[in-house]
Amino acid sequence: MSVATRLDKNIAVITIDNPPVNALSTHVRAGLVTAIKAVNANENIHGVILTGAGRIFIGGADIKEFGKPPLEPFLPNVIDVIEHCRVPTVAAINGAALGGGLEVALGCRFRVGSPTAKCGLPEVNLGLIPGAGGTQRLPRLIGAVKAGEMITSGKPLGADKALNTGILDAVFADDLLANAQVFLRAKIAKGESGNPLSTGKVPSWDAQAFAALETKTKTRARGQLSPVKALAAVRAAHELSFRDGLKREREIFTECMASPQRAGLIHAFFAQRQTAKIPGLDITNTRPIKTVGILGAGTMGVGIALAFTAGGYTVSLFDIDQDALAAGSKRIARTLEASVKKGRISTHAKDEQLSRFYSLSSMDDLSGTDLIIEAATENMEIKKSIFRDLDRICKPGAILATNTSYLDVNILAKSTNRPGDVIGMHFFSPAHIMKLLEVVRTDSVSDEVLATVMGLGKTIGKITVLSGVCDGFIGNRILKAYRKQAEYMVLDGAWPEQVDKVMREFGFAMGIFAVSDLAGLDIGYFTRRREDVNRPAQERYVDIADKLYDLGRLGQKTGSGWYVYKEGSRTPAVDPIVTQVIEAAAQQNNISRRRFSDDEIFERILYAMINEGAKILDEGIAARALDIDMVYIHGYGFPAYRGGPMFYADQIGAKAVYERICEFAKTDPYFWQASDLLKSLAETGGTFKGL
Ligand code: NAD
Repeated sequence: MSVATRLDKNIAVITIDNPPVNALSTHVRAGLVTAIKAVNANENIHGVILTGAGRIFIGGADIKEFGKPPLEPFLPNVIDVIEHCRVPTVAAINGAALGGGLEVALGCRFRVGSPTAKCGLPEVNLGLIPGAGGTQRLPRLIGAVKAGEMITSGKPLGADKALNTGILDAVFADDLLANAQVFLRAKIAKGESGNPLSTGKVPSWDAQAFAALETKTKTRARGQLSPVKALAAVRAAHELSFRDGLKREREIFTECMASPQRAGLIHAFFAQRQTAKIPGLDITNTRPIKTVGILGAGTMGVGIALAFTAGGYTVSLFDIDQDALAAGSKRIARTLEASVKKGRISTHAKDEQLSRFYSLSSMDDLSGTDLIIEAATENMEIKKSIFRDLDRICKPGAILATNTSYLDVNILAKSTNRPGDVIGMHFFSPAHIMKLLEVVRTDSVSDEVLATVMGLGKTIGKITVLSGVCDGFIGNRILKAYRKQAEYMVLDGAWPEQVDKVMREFGFAMGIFAVSDLAGLDIGYFTRRREDVNRPAQERYVDIADKLYDLGRLGQKTGSGWYVYKEGSRTPAVDPIVTQVIEAAAQQNNISRRRFSDDEIFERILYAMINEGAKILDEGIAARALDIDMVYIHGYGFPAYRGGPMFYADQIGAKAVYERICEFAKTDPYFWQASDLLKSLAETGGTFKGL
């Protein structure tokens, strides 16, 4: 039975029990209607408590029903039946009430919760809007601005906030059901049966504040439609009757349902659950990891240490430079303190995390550690020497990982006598915040080590994607390709700010040149110096970034790079000096600069990305197109609502992409070598998703 009713004197307790998340599957919806009808038919029942079994109230729609034609009874009708129940109803929210789950609770006359209650309408994250009256009832309960903020952010509110905003009428520290009964009986005794939200009006409408929220939402959404559309539905709650508002909500919901953005976000949603699943890998055969050692207390070492302390591990940090070690340790403490100030963690949690953190004065102290992650300077000789030392120091069975961005992890594995224990763990900066972890599979790594590290990614909250060994792995290899293309365009006639604008308009958080300034121009400079010896003669080389480096323009940290920054500001401004450097470079290379349309810039950037992605797939560096999509969405700011570069390529069609690349190849055949895989998909009408 997925919906069961139990009578407690004259109160009916209706419990939804549909593990694992009490989703609103067809049989649950039907069960709710049957249960309420039975209540209506039984005059001995004076009130209803609606709750969820286990630790969740209702997790939302059933994802197994996504994309299929909806079956009756439809959720809006189910909620209508609940709302018009003959007796007062209270939702006893015992955990997450998300999406349709919160909409069901809004159909009740009252809502009470446990301290673990979470109320949220996350539909915008899937390119949708709440579609069962949420955009009409929530504003009537808490006001249009608060409801609009909640719906457009997609973020759930915890019990305290839900109480403060007025979604919950009470929070009970213990025994939710017993307290919900006392609450309900008191209401019945006083004759306060509450009014259906559908009969009320949106309270304290503030036109100016709502307009400000609309403007802010549009800017923040960066081209994503669902948050903006959701506000149109919330506005209708004020402007129209409940019935017409519901109709408007349905129209907008249907429009969102049919949009490519929803398809992209649904793809991203499912892909995220796929990446850690490696066909043929036994994920139960793992090594126990309790202690983590980190080598290098720089930008990455500190972030990685924070990620693991937050994940409950005992963490030791070592740096060859004692000052760097002291500074890194201080940064860890300061970051945790800042998290307390921002209300992200409690003081107790901070102290507990710090009690598991050690800074080591000697590398030998890593001898008993289960996992060691090397995050030292990006230099093969330094890293080889570290791995030789680790091989000598570490206990048998310890996993030795490197956070290198580009270097060959196979070579590092070979520099030890335990190549089966060596693996790449490529974190992104800042490592305690960025969601992506690329796990780099060497030729020699054991399945046990691989399964351990893939599982570990999950325990520290990362989206873990497997990559083979190549220069830059999945993410940085693709980045290198489109960065080159961007620099070619700048030499040939485009401007950095124009390229960045095109990328932002597509939905990227930042353009490639602003990203270079953020990361530091020194990183690219040293990578290029490493590549000087092996750079093919046919490859075009643009030295504008080298010239900027020579001028001491290392990006944001020096106040100038591709752009100039006012002191204390991170807002890039166009700098005439950069304009001069670009024009001089073009002259030196006898290039007469031409105009690039935004469309051409877009195609060159995106198709460079797609072409390199296709090569990565063809070589088996990425197992599936969705792995590349996840790397790009979670590590490189690719807009999730576009589904990732390979998903987007399928939307355009392999044929169109391939033909355009052949066109570009006429003037630069070396760069625009079309991937064989892309060519074959173009010829057969295949898709990356279908591979
Ligand atoms: P960083 O320069 O900030 O820090 C490197 C630290 O390593 C320094 O404190 C240095 O003293 C220390 N170090 C050098 N030799 C050492 C040794 N033998 N033993 C112990 N410590 C030693 O560098 P970073 O930006 O943190 O990068 C570290 C690694 O992470 C590099 O391989 C880099 O490619 C990679 N990475 C960097 C980023 C990024 O955005 N910064 C992102 C992903 C990966």
